[in-house]
Amino acid sequence: MEEIERRMEGLRQTSLVILPESVLRAIAAKIQVEQVQANRRLVLEDTVPSALYILRTGRLEAYRTSPDSLAKASSLLPGSVLQLKELLLDQPAQQTVINLEDCEIWTVPRPAFLDLVRQYPEINQAVSRYLAAELDAMAAQLAFEQERQVALRPYLVPRVKQGIVGSSRYATRLRQAIKKAALDRQPVLIFGEPGLGKDNIAALIHFGSDCRKQPLVKVNCDTLQASGAELFGRVGGKLGLLDWLGNGSLMLNNVQDLPKPLEQKLLRLLETGRYEPVDREGAPAPHLRTSQARILLTSERVIPEIESCKKLGTHLIKVPPVRVAKADIAAQVTYYISLFCRSRGLPQPQVAPEALRRLQGYDFPGNLAELESLVTRAIVQANGAPVLTEEVFWSVSTKAKRFRLNLLNAYPKLRQFLRSPWWPTRINYGLTLWLFPLIVAIGLFGPQTRDQSLVLNLFWAWWWPVMLLLFPFLGRIWCSVCPFMIYGELTQTLSLKLWPRQLRPWPRQQAERWGGWFLFGLFSLILLWEELWDLENTAYLSSCLLLLITAGAVIFSLLFERRFWCRYLCPIGGMNGLFAKLSFLELRAQQGICAATCTTYQCYKGGPEKGEGQETEGCPVYSHPAQLQDNRDCVLCMTCLKACPHRSVELNLRPFGIELWTSHTASASEVALLLLLFGAVFLHHLPDLNQQLGLNLPLSQVGIHFGGAVLALLIPALITLGADRLLRWSNACKRSFVELAYGYLPLVLGASLAHYLQLGLTEAGQILPVTLATFGYGPGWSSSLPVVVAHPAVINFLQGSTLVVSLLLSVILTQKIARQPLRSLLPQHLALLGLTVWLWKLIV
Ligand code: SF4
Ligand code: SF4
Ligand code: SF4
Repeated sequence: MEEIERRMEGLRQTSLVILPESVLRAIAAKIQVEQVQANRRLVLEDTVPSALYILRTGRLEAYRTSPDSLAKASSLLPGSVLQLKELLLDQPAQQTVINLEDCEIWTVPRPAFLDLVRQYPEINQAVSRYLAAELDAMAAQLAFEQERQVALRPYLVPRVKQGIVGSSRYATRLRQAIKKAALDRQPVLIFGEPGLGKDNIAALIHFGSDCRKQPLVKVNCDTLQASGAELFGRVGGKLGLLDWLGNGSLMLNNVQDLPKPLEQKLLRLLETGRYEPVDREGAPAPHLRTSQARILLTSERVIPEIESCKKLGTHLIKVPPVRVAKADIAAQVTYYISLFCRSRGLPQPQVAPEALRRLQGYDFPGNLAELESLVTRAIVQANGAPVLTEEVFWSVSTKAKRFRLNLLNAYPKLRQFLRSPWWPTRINYGLTLWLFPLIVAIGLFGPQTRDQSLVLNLFWAWWWPVMLLLFPFLGRIWCSVCPFMIYGELTQTLSLKLWPRQLRPWPRQQAERWGGWFLFGLFSLILLWEELWDLENTAYLSSCLLLLITAGAVIFSLLFERRFWCRYLCPIGGMNGLFAKLSFLELRAQQGICAATCTTYQCYKGGPEKGEGQETEGCPVYSHPAQLQDNRDCVLCMTCLKACPHRSVELNLRPFGIELWTSHTASASEVALLLLLFGAVFLHHLPDLNQQLGLNLPLSQVGIHFGGAVLALLIPALITLGADRLLRWSNACKRSFVELAYGYLPLVLGASLAHYLQLGLTEAGQILPVTLATFGYGPGWSSSLPVVVAHPAVINFLQGSTLVVSLLLSVILTQKIARQPLRSLLPQHLALLGLTVWLWKLIV
């Protein structure tokens, strides 16, 4: 009797408790007690159940032998009732059951149990009710699961992309750190440079942990709403990701970009596991909710607040950049090759040893992402070749990258300066903005002759020679501190504040087609105006010229976005862009990094602060530094350098004018401008020309002066076109006139410089007395001031050397552009020589 009571007590601790007492008593009477040793199979799936089992002590495991059996394995604890459903529904056993340790099992043999079922219909009824309730619960659970799946789907990380490749100590340490972090559920901060696959490491931790069957979701912090509703949900409204996640893992990618208002909320979540759903402003603080989710953070740098959570158990994992773990590059290359080839069913090529050495010698600033894109690009380019050679790896970048020295890496202080507000904002708005109107006013209202006007001295004796000298070294640098555009930008900003509106987008197609011709026309008019009205000796007209260009910048800045005038229409900008092609300096971005790691393109588009990238409005001339092929399209404002969060922008030292024979696209309007600038040198010597040619034209008559000026401007065009006719006639040259004409560019620059050297070396050094004279202090005041004037022989020597060096550079450049034997380009070289001799006679 006592034994029956004990068994009834045991039955009440099982799911059979729902049965009436009389039925429990009847079952208790039929129970046989068995002691079963560990590792015995109690039930075999798909066989007829031989008894009803009730586990009293010990532990069982139930599973189904199928490909996904592991996922179905479950542990059965004391109180579990086995085979009840199968016996009632007359089904075979659904699962195999083994005992993991010694167990006490109560058994009711099948015939005895079926007798009881016949005798007590309550058993069937109770179990049916139980099953119906279970079904309801399952349906509710299923609905919740479906809703959960929908909510989590956009963020789900389905699997690990790749493992940690390599056997260096860095790779080994990283693997150990991942393994360690997978053992518990503490938060993890994974930090390192862009392109290292930190999100993949977070996935490795999640899928290596016991919670691998739970979902892993990834949220990019720069896309999170500042309210935090997406993460934390709303009071009485939509659930947040943390509510849906349960025991899953939440990966916050690039946590350095987390909106500021969420920082404290995240810290509380990390420290306490609790979070506050978002409520209406002014409402009482909502109840905190508890999250079971594991938090995985990735960042491009250490976050001190999170690092301080280390004492709470946060794992900190530093991912080493590729450049410090070069020993792994070979393994990584092989891995990426096999990954790419397997996914496309291609045969796997080998990597040539010299190509591998070259890869190992490169620093990969874009890290693994850059390496992977380099490898896949090489496979595509190799076009099925069995060996990947050095050329296929580097062909894309070789031409653009050869012989470059990134000054920003070599001189970190230069980088610091160019990223600071000093360049060029403070220079422009602290100095140029105020000096420019002063200079224009002096020109308009002060003395008008060159010996008394500071404006004429600054413009003709200083600005021109200095600018021409700077072009080979600093390219279009003037355009970053140019006063014309400062006023353009200022007017644009103020007008948008006073009159908010959408500025017009650029009519790019028309601008590309006609912009060059527009500025050519404007430059021609300016040159004729300069010659006919003697601008060099008339201060107010020189000021008018400055005002005219400023007016262009202002008008087009009021109409169009950014600096449309500078990109397409400014005559000075056109000249600057043309000569900047010859520069030793270039601004470019590393295409590998941009392609592999960048999603924001804020160098081009602008945007808020991101990582080390500052808040900017984007490139003012709509150039993308990674796509730049031509110095003409960059005004060296350094906006992109400030904006780039990935250190992709470079300021390179490069061979003189290298773009002209590597990445250059010729343009007819630009060649017209080149020939016009060449003609301007002849124009500046019109009286000498008149004499030299024995024409003796009466230049005092406006019409004849005008005709003579136009003819002077046309001289280089006529000679170069004549030389080109000879080239075509001999059929020796494969390049068109427009392409080959850029060979004259060094001579144009040199001739212009030689011309302005005369003014620079005789008048620039007189700036102090001229300044005093401008303000009305006569020779008595200025006689004691220092004056520097070069000896005529020195001037002649410098002018002559400039012409000779320019001639040589022009010949070399022509050869480089044409890539043909010297003999086949003889007409052009003779034209160069003839023009140089003529200019020598005129200038020196
Ligand atoms: S393009 Fe013309 S207006 Fe623009 S910055 Fe250069 S010189 Fe100034
Ligand atoms: S240069 Fe521009 S595109 Fe390239 S990484 Fe920087 S911001 Fe991105
Ligand atoms: S490419 Fe960079 S430096 Fe050049 S104009 Fe654009 S933002 Fe300025």
